[in-house]
Amino acid sequence: MLQQTTVAAVIPYYERFVTRFPNTNALAAAPLDDVLAAWAGLGYYARARNLHACAQAVAAAGGFPRDLDGLRALPGVGEYTAAAIGAIAFGISAVPVDGNVERVVARLFAIGAPMPAAKPAIREAAASLGADPQARARPSDFAQALFDLGATVCTPAAPACGICPWLTGCAGRRAGIAADLPRKVAKQPRPVRLGVHFWLCDADGQVLLRRRPRHGLLGGMVELPGTPWRAEPWSAAEAVSHAPMALEWRPAGQVRHGFTHFELVIDLLAARARVVEAEGFLRPVEALAGEALSSLMRKCVSMASAYPSSRPPPARGGGEERSPLPLREGVGGGDPLDRARARPHHLPARRRH
Ligand code: SF4
Repeated sequence: MLQQTTVAAVIPYYERFVTRFPNTNALAAAPLDDVLAAWAGLGYYARARNLHACAQAVAAAGGFPRDLDGLRALPGVGEYTAAAIGAIAFGISAVPVDGNVERVVARLFAIGAPMPAAKPAIREAAASLGADPQARARPSDFAQALFDLGATVCTPAAPACGICPWLTGCAGRRAGIAADLPRKVAKQPRPVRLGVHFWLCDADGQVLLRRRPRHGLLGGMVELPGTPWRAEPWSAAEAVSHAPMALEWRPAGQVRHGFTHFELVIDLLAARARVVEAEGFLRPVEALAGEALSSLMRKCVSMASAYPSSRPPPARGGGEERSPLPLREGVGGGDPLDRARARPHHLPARRRH
């Protein structure tokens, strides 16, 4: 849960999660959709899927494996997690190397190669620390002391070398390069992808949703229906060909969202129908918070639901649908996407490329 997130932000998610799934068997027995709903908002949804698959593997085996190879074979468990579980839960002599530990070790051994090329050398050096007799005697304490040293003393910008227990042996400090390690190659700007998603509301105030494929980005999460995401801008005609129903689609805001490898700009279009007949499923607006919506989709819901064009049509049997919104809100000429882009709102201007 702590990937790219602060402890303070994670605590309420963690508490809800362990209350809902108090042990491995409860997690294994739960439907994946419930697990994803409990994870919604944390990002990195592959972790939730792997956690669920891992719980099922552990429950089927009757317990956790007690060796590093067995731990590594569990879904979602890599080198770092296997070493952390092994050292902390089972007292196995292993040094888990996370970002904090990488930094401490790169400085301690003055490893100057840039990341990620430096990783093998860092792992080897970390393993040599774990070979110390005192570390071998208390693997759990040693692992957690390393985490804490990196988090509180050997911090990224300003290592507090004066209070560090490894002050005298630290090659990075002696060379005066500690604060520059580990070296990183300059980041390339993230590419931008563009998409259009559709807010479709029926007469009962229900919104059309769909579930993403189980695998891939945001796999298994719930979303507003939409186009694929791509580098080229969408024309209105192209975008509307992906709409769930042929309706009068109107601009309903724009959302930007950063993923690890790209930045996404979503144009939202809204329409209303007394009866929705489209692939997907309907949920009342007030129940959307309980759905497995990603942070991206929560932004989209928040943006689209605030637009006048997103309000539900009159109730069934309530006579003719109200006349359309004023023309400046409608699609009476021009490209709705262009006018959505032109609409002043608090989000930064769309990046052109
Ligand atoms: S002496 Fe300084 S740079 Fe070296 S490990 Fe300690 S805090 Fe980090």
